[in-house]
Amino acid sequence: MAKIFLVGAGPGDPELLTLRAARLLGQADIVLHDALVGEGVLALANPRAELVDVGKRFAGKAMAQAEICRRLVDAARTGKLVVRLKGGDPMIFGRATEEMEALGQAGFEVEVVPGVTAACAAAAQAKLSLTRRRVARSLHFLTGHGAEGGLPAHDWGALVRAGGTIAVYMGGHTLAGLAAHLIEAGMAPGLPALAVENAGRPAAREIAGTLATLPRRLREAKPVGPVLLLLGEALAPETVEAATREALMTE
Ligand code: SAH
Repeated sequence: MAKIFLVGAGPGDPELLTLRAARLLGQADIVLHDALVGEGVLALANPRAELVDVGKRFAGKAMAQAEICRRLVDAARTGKLVVRLKGGDPMIFGRATEEMEALGQAGFEVEVVPGVTAACAAAAQAKLSLTRRRVARSLHFLTGHGAEGGLPAHDWGALVRAGGTIAVYMGGHTLAGLAAHLIEAGMAPGLPALAVENAGRPAAREIAGTLATLPRRLREAKPVGPVLLLLGEALAPETVEAATREALMTE
């Protein structure tokens, strides 16, 4: 049975690929990739491979998931070595289930190659442990943009009670709402908050603030690359602390 590879491309720097991902890319005949996959990563693909951008937007509209699944199955049927390359890790907010199901129903076996997820890339970028001892005992991965569009109805109270570090994917546009919900549920407005744009890429930028101030700061920073948000006491070492103090003073 032919095997299709669902491969994590990491945050963008080819150095952050796994050896297995790099090897499979070098051998691939067809690579179906997301928009977020960095050019440096694609440069490692077999020069004879067909590269298909399934994350491309046409007139502002992204390709429907059903269409991506269809293309993936069509590619698999050619019998060639197919790599489905996804930004970060395929199993974290990567719609991997839909694609694995489509391939499974068409009779193909799938192998998943993990990648460095954006939260880890952002933590490395900011040199902050997300599970700082005695400060954060849990780490929560949230989406700021649900399948139905807009901010999902998370259990805000549970997140406040857990007291861990929160990493928000796809949350740049809904941060104001997310912060308002968390503050209403009892989270401290002064909680350290950090937005990392383009983590693990040359254009990386960190925007620091608090739960209360980060929405405005991020808006003013006008990010163009992908943004990962981090919230929690674990983000309080010097740099973030200074920014927090400054933010509180200018309130
Ligand atoms: N599977 C991916 C996540 C896909 S969802 C992963 O594991 O990382 C897309 C979201 O991921 C973006 O909206 C952003 O929040 C985050 N993201 C992806 N790459 C990023 C990067 N290089 N820097 C910051 N955030 C990133």
